[in-house]
Amino acid sequence: MTILLTGGAGFIGSHTYVALTQAGHEAVIVDNFYNSSQEVISRLQTITGKAVPYYDVDVCDHHALDQVFQKHSFDAVIHFAGYKAVGESVGMPIEYYRNNLDSTLTLCEVMRERGVNRIVFSSSATVYGMTDDMPLKETMSSGGCTNPYGWTKYMIEQILRDVADANPSWAVALLRYFNPIGAHESGLIGEDPVGLPNNLMPFITQVASGKLKELNIFGNDYPTPDGTGIRDYIHVVDLAQGHLDACAYLMAHTGCEVFNLGTGVGYSVLDMVHTFERVNNVTVPFHIAPRRPGDIARCFADPSKAEKLLGWKAHKSLEDMCIDAWRWQSLNPNGYATV
Ligand code: UDP
Repeated sequence: MTILLTGGAGFIGSHTYVALTQAGHEAVIVDNFYNSSQEVISRLQTITGKAVPYYDVDVCDHHALDQVFQKHSFDAVIHFAGYKAVGESVGMPIEYYRNNLDSTLTLCEVMRERGVNRIVFSSSATVYGMTDDMPLKETMSSGGCTNPYGWTKYMIEQILRDVADANPSWAVALLRYFNPIGAHESGLIGEDPVGLPNNLMPFITQVASGKLKELNIFGNDYPTPDGTGIRDYIHVVDLAQGHLDACAYLMAHTGCEVFNLGTGVGYSVLDMVHTFERVNNVTVPFHIAPRRPGDIARCFADPSKAEKLLGWKAHKSLEDMCIDAWRWQSLNPNGYATV
């Protein structure tokens, strides 16, 4: 297969590039490096041993994107590109809606013009909103998101569902990610948040390295066994494989399907801290802080649909996730930046 990866230099996109290339497929990256580094491209070249086809193009730029489609014959597109910071989206809703929706619509227009009709979309468990009915199944209702970022995922899902309804030859897979963490085992690529990390694992790794003083645990009075929030953490390499399986599925099916990509198992914040400390032999100082607005007590997937229809399931353990995240942090104390 020849696959276009929009946002292919990002955290999940770069791991998916490796998975596709190592499985013998051709992957082409389009990224405007707004939230990612050019250094990713040379790291990908080191891992795969091949030149990386990439274009420094904004997906909102119809003309530039069309030129990429003219140069390659894509079997499918995996659409990762988009603004992704939950907290930032609350203060910048116009930018989030403009960028995430515009890029998707532009991509769909170019795909239609160039006769490419298979798309895998990078969605999120956040579209399930504030329910506490667990595990989450694809048949449950979505909506009630708590921030503009989540609403853009919800709206893009709806756009793609409508496109598939209107065009019976289209094939769409909406992948709802749970909490991707970890890194490629080479330690060459990983998560590189800009500024203070919002998410738990990059915060833990930066505390363990001494870059940050201590972790704030947002609430220990949730109705969970140890009182801290429970999430379904998934290794990014397992998640990347899910994209290959989704592309293979779309080669044989039309219409629109939604898939949860999670492990089905939830761990608390304290489980994460203690496992990280144990497997890496480090300490992660923390203190208990107030709950974070918009957080729910528990969130974990029913991943059985992906296993049944895609033949996909997560294999890597929480220990693997913690070891690989720490290797990435230790080898790259400043992420992709050289200083
Ligand atoms: N969390 C925390 N301290 C942090 C970041 C996150 O205690 O600095 C908690 C958060 O309240 C949640 C879990 O860790 O229970 C996962 O949070 P994250 O932001 O990584 O993912 P999300 O909440 O989007 O699932």
